[in-house]
Amino acid sequence: MCYAIPGKVVEINDKIVTVEYFGEQRKARNEFYDLKLGEYVYAQGGLVIQKMSEREALPVLESWKELFFELQEIDIQMAKNTKTLYDKANAVRHKHLGNACCVHGIIEFSNYCKNNCLYCGLRKDNTKIKRYRMEVDEIVKTAENAINNLGFKALVLQSGEDDYYTAEMLEKAVKQIMSKNPILLVLSIGERDISVYRRLYGAGARGVLLRFETSDPELYKKMKPESDFDKRIELIKQLREMGYLIFTGFLVGLPGQSEEILVKDIELTDSLGADMFSFGPFIPHPQTPLADAGAPSIDTALNAIARARLISPEAKILVTTAMETIDKQDGAKLGLMSGGNSLMINLTPEKYRKFYEIYPDRAGTDTAVEKQIQDVLDLLRRLGRAPTDLGI
Ligand code: SAM
Ligand code: SF4
Repeated sequence: MCYAIPGKVVEINDKIVTVEYFGEQRKARNEFYDLKLGEYVYAQGGLVIQKMSEREALPVLESWKELFFELQEIDIQMAKNTKTLYDKANAVRHKHLGNACCVHGIIEFSNYCKNNCLYCGLRKDNTKIKRYRMEVDEIVKTAENAINNLGFKALVLQSGEDDYYTAEMLEKAVKQIMSKNPILLVLSIGERDISVYRRLYGAGARGVLLRFETSDPELYKKMKPESDFDKRIELIKQLREMGYLIFTGFLVGLPGQSEEILVKDIELTDSLGADMFSFGPFIPHPQTPLADAGAPSIDTALNAIARARLISPEAKILVTTAMETIDKQDGAKLGLMSGGNSLMINLTPEKYRKFYEIYPDRAGTDTAVEKQIQDVLDLLRRLGRAPTDLGI
């Protein structure tokens, strides 16, 4: 699989370039000092990650050409419907971002965590969970397999807040992955000192997935006893300033979340300038203090996606695994048809995957990576979505 389409650079304006994909233009941030007009690039999440020659790009473009226009037509037809709130959000998504859709991979490299978030199955006090850690070499090998054999161009490295991994170890992993492979590497490792994030930026990481979880400071205090709301928000802002693409958001249906808080959650995601909205339904885990709380309905979760799309028409909105978990059959499809335009595939080695139990019965846990990829590709084709970059 190579689920990305290269584009041609048609304008350069300092660090912002315009890239054209079959007539559609998107802006992207560029760090290549020698990039020239007319050259071809891969971009991910609005960042140019790889330059390529015309000789390399043209056969890829040729192989996509016919399919791209077919997909575009399917999307145009499907976005004509504007009866329900979900349809309206889908039409807005189509109007602002066309049929672009990104597919990122996620590698969950440790389920140890020093924190006790009330909602999470990885919390320190959950003694029933079997803990695992991947060593640096194994993280690098898993990432390289995802890049070279499975065709991923954007990867998230995620873990509990696990101080076993020193800044040196994380730097080594990021450097080794990035030295051979031009990808968008996103860190989801919780609250680490800003100096650690600076070092990892230097090593080549360019994205951070760090949710603020709830915009309500009181609810935050209850849900994340070891963490401070203001400090987490400040960290997100500092990381953005440092140059990281920010993936952030909240939990939908967290006990205590009112309608008013939900709207504020969406607004805060927007005002933090999220490069990717990452929010999904809360699913209770039996070995947590919230075991008896109910999960939100699929409609509540879809409603949040649709409202986020209407509040922030140009947002990149991830349809999360939790969404796919509350409706195994159709969660991904419904999310993409209610304003979502991004998906994540779980690339954690199968022997560990079931132990990364933030909530039970996660979608994709028992499905081989190849099958997950095929299912996603089939779904995106049915919905008329193409892997052109979503831009900035
Ligand atoms: N430890 C890091 C952190 O908290 O930022 C990254 C890993 S953490 C498992 C990733 C995300 O999982 C959290 O931001 C949280 O929103 C989500 N999560 C945790 N427990 C969940 C649950 N019961 N249902 C849905 N999502 C959950
Ligand atoms: Fe740890 Fe993150 Fe889970 Fe909180 S949400 S317990 S920080 S893994």
